[in-house]
Amino acid sequence: MPKMTGIRGLLIDLDGVLYVADTPVPGAGEVIARLTAQDIPRRYLTNTTTRTAASVLEKLQHLGFDVRAGEVFSPITATVQFLKNQGQPSINPVVRDSVLPEFAGFPVDDERPDYVVIGDIGAAWSYPLINRIFAQLHAGAALIAMHKNKFFQGEDGLQVDIGAFVAGLEYVSGKQAQVIGKPSRSFFDLALQSLQLPASSVAMIGDDIETDVGGGKDAGMHGILVRTGKYRQGCEAHAAHKPDCIMDTLGDLFDYVDLRRGSKA
Ligand SMILES: [Mg+2]
Repeated sequence: MPKMTGIRGLLIDLDGVLYVADTPVPGAGEVIARLTAQDIPRRYLTNTTTRTAASVLEKLQHLGFDVRAGEVFSPITATVQFLKNQGQPSINPVVRDSVLPEFAGFPVDDERPDYVVIGDIGAAWSYPLINRIFAQLHAGAALIAMHKNKFFQGEDGLQVDIGAFVAGLEYVSGKQAQVIGKPSRSFFDLALQSLQLPASSVAMIGDDIETDVGGGKDAGMHGILVRTGKYRQGCEAHAAHKPDCIMDTLGDLFDYVDLRRGSKA
């Protein structure tokens, strides 16, 4: 396969690409170090809502990745920005306690919030909780999904993600959630703006054929699929968007993509 050319910047998914659970993907650290050394424009796009962006950065640095502040885009920061743009709405934050401080600027209303904000709460989902959210939606609240992923790769294989709960709440309430993270177009556009590159000269790299590759291609970028994390053999055969490139791991990046700082598209 000839190398991809015309790529001047990268958007890189984290979970399943740089690491799986708490284990770095072999070779990924070297690739990130080389991207940093060559000053290739890059941003990291995660749908993680279990940690603040600052905590994600801390984890990456702890795992040995040369990632800097301001390079990580998380749905939490994007959601806070979205809420700020609405004034000072009341919310019901359905999020982990560790990320609650990020939402401290908005009054919490357990009866009639303006927005119900859904993040990953792991095994804390329950029938009473879902019923309470249903009542709030019925009373007029709008639904925000920080992402709508179907599943993720956990320590013990694929696990159900919050998309199942978001879809269920949409079904029973008749309301469409506003999805903030990948594959939302505005999330990709935010990262592209910060790269100051046109979508056509940027590649999105991820282990999720729909959210990363499909979302990136819908936003006008190239899509690169890695066979780590949640990737499963043959998933690309049924996907709406074909990846422009498939590689075993991020560690192979420079074998597949001709990346040059400032090279013309
Ligand atoms: Mg991923």
